[in-house]
Amino acid sequence: MILPPAVLGLLGGGQLGRYFTLSARTMGYRVWVLDPDPDSPAGRLADRHLCAAFDDPDALSELAAHADVITCEFENVPAASAEWLAAHAPMRPNPRALAIAQDRIAEKRFLEDAGVAVAPWLVVDSIAAARAAVPDWDFPAILKTARLGYDGKGQLPVSASGGVVRAFRELGEVPCVLEQQVELDREVSVVLARDPDGRCRSFPVAENVHRQGILHLSRIPARIDAATRAQAEAVAQRVAEQLDYCGVLAIEFFVCGSGELLVNEMAPRPHNSGHYTLDATTVSQFEQQVRAICGLALAPADLTAPAAMVNLLGDLWPEDQGLPDLSRLLAQGRARLHLYGKPVARPGRKMGHVNLLGVPGESDASQPARLAESLWAELAEGAAR
Ligand code: ATP
Ligand code: MG
Repeated sequence: MILPPAVLGLLGGGQLGRYFTLSARTMGYRVWVLDPDPDSPAGRLADRHLCAAFDDPDALSELAAHADVITCEFENVPAASAEWLAAHAPMRPNPRALAIAQDRIAEKRFLEDAGVAVAPWLVVDSIAAARAAVPDWDFPAILKTARLGYDGKGQLPVSASGGVVRAFRELGEVPCVLEQQVELDREVSVVLARDPDGRCRSFPVAENVHRQGILHLSRIPARIDAATRAQAEAVAQRVAEQLDYCGVLAIEFFVCGSGELLVNEMAPRPHNSGHYTLDATTVSQFEQQVRAICGLALAPADLTAPAAMVNLLGDLWPEDQGLPDLSRLLAQGRARLHLYGKPVARPGRKMGHVNLLGVPGESDASQPARLAESLWAELAEGAAR
C-alpha cells in the first residue's frame, strides 16, 4: 500500500483533478499536479503545481523524482511522456490504456478485439478513403477526429454520401472515424475502480442526457432493466481486465432501440457522469481513484438516494463574468452546488455542476432529475435576460 503522506502525481489540472486533489489531501496525501494552465482548478489546490507542458522534460523528471505513484485526469497526455513516466515511477492507469483511450481508431480496434459491440465504423484517413467509404454506407453518420475530441468537438454530422469528403476537409484532413449514427433509446455510463490486484467495484449506472454533444444531465438510477445493467457492468469490467487497468475507468454506452448495448467510448479517469458520487454514494469516484492507485481497499460504492446531476456551462454566466444568480438554487437543501473556480467563463465551458438528492427509499426516482431541470431552466432564463 502507498500510505500518506506519500506524493501522488497527477497529469492534468482540471475539475476532475481538483476533486482528486481534495480527496487525496483530505486523507493526508500530498499532490503534485502537472498542467500548463497557471489557473488550473487542481493546480490551485495542489501541494505543488508544475506549470509546464505535458512534454516538458524538466517537469516530467521532477514529477517522476518526487511522486510515489502517478495518475491522470486527462487522457491526452503525449504517449511519449506517459511511456517515459511509467519507466521511472508507478503509473496507474498504465500508458497502454491511455494510448488506446486517446485514439478512437485504437479504441475501437481494442474494443472489437475484446469482443465488445460498437456502432458500425470505418477509418477515414485520406480523401481516397473518404470517397471509398461512401458506396455501402448507411447514412446518417458522424465523422469524428481520431484524436483530441471532447464535448462533441471534432465531430461533424454527415447526412449523405457527398458529405464525407466535405466533412473530412472541414475537420482538417486528420485521421478520422466515420461512425453510423445509431438510434438511441438512451445513453448510460459505468464508472468503476480496479485495484492493483484486479479487484473491481462499479458505481451505480448513470443515465446521461447530452445537449449539443455535451453532457447536460445525469440521473441515477438509470432507467434500464436489470439484465441491461448487469451487461453494462460486465462489459466495463471486461474492458478493465483486458487493459490490466488500475484506477478509475469510465465507459459510455448507447442503449439502442432494439435493446442492444454498444460501447461509445471510454475515459481512463473519473468522469463527468460520475459527479453525483460526490454527494449520493458511500464513496466518491475521486476518493476511490486515490484508494485504487494506492492499493487501499476499495470502498463500497452504493447509492444513498436517487440523484441527478446537472452541468453548469459558461453559457449561464453573465457577460461581465460575475456569477449567475444562485439564490434560488442555494435555497434548496437538496441541491448541492459545485463550482470549479475557473476565472473565465466561455460558452460550452464546464464551470460547475449541481447534484440533486432525492429522499432515500422514495418511490418517485425521477424527482431529483425534474428538480435539476427546473433549477437549470431558471438559470438559463436568467442568463437570457
Ligand atoms: P465527451 O468526451 O465529452 O464524452 P466526445 O466529444 O468524445 O464527448 P462522443 O462521446 O463521441 O463525443 O459523442 C458525444 C455525444 O454525441 C454522445 O454522447 C451522443 O449523444 C452523440 N453521439 C456520438 N456518436 C453517436 C452515434 N454514433 N450515434 C448517435 N449519437 C452519437
Ligand atoms: Mg463521450
